[in-house]
Amino acid sequence: MNCLFCKIIEGSIPSTPVYQDELSYAFADIHPQAPVHVLVVPRQHIASMADCSEEDRALLGHLLWVAAKIARDKGLVKGYRAVLNTGEDGGQTVDHLHVHLVGGRPLAWPPG
Ligand code: 5GP
Ligand code: ZN
Repeated sequence: MNCLFCKIIEGSIPSTPVYQDELSYAFADIHPQAPVHVLVVPRQHIASMADCSEEDRALLGHLLWVAAKIARDKGLVKGYRAVLNTGEDGGQTVDHLHVHLVGGRPLAWPPG
C-alpha cells in the first residue's frame, strides 16, 4: 500500500522514534509546531477516525493512552493538546490515522 505512515512504521522511510509497542508507533513530526510534536499511529492501517469500526474501540483508547504516557514522560506538566485531524475539513493530509501530541508552549483556541 502506498501509505507514508505505513512506510514509516515498517522502516523504509526513516523517522525519529519516541515510543512503540505491539499496537502503536510514535515518532517526531517532521515539521514540529511546538517544542513537543509527536505523532502516535496504529501499526494497523486505518485511514482516519471516520474509518474506525466498533472493533477499533480499544485501539482508539490505546492511542490516547500512549499520547498521555509520552506527555508524562516528556514532562508536559502545564498541559498539552491531543488532536486527530480527520478528513478534508479537519485538515488531514496523511490518510493513516494519527494522534498529534503537541505541547511545550501555550496553545491558542479556537483553531484556524
Ligand atoms: P495531518 O495534516 O494529516 O493531520 O498530519 C500529518 C503530519 O505528518 C503533519 O504534521 C506533517 O508534518 C507530518 N509529516 C508529513 N510527512 C512526514 C514525514 O515524512 N515524516 C514525519 N516524521 N512526519 C511527516
Ligand atoms: Zn498506512
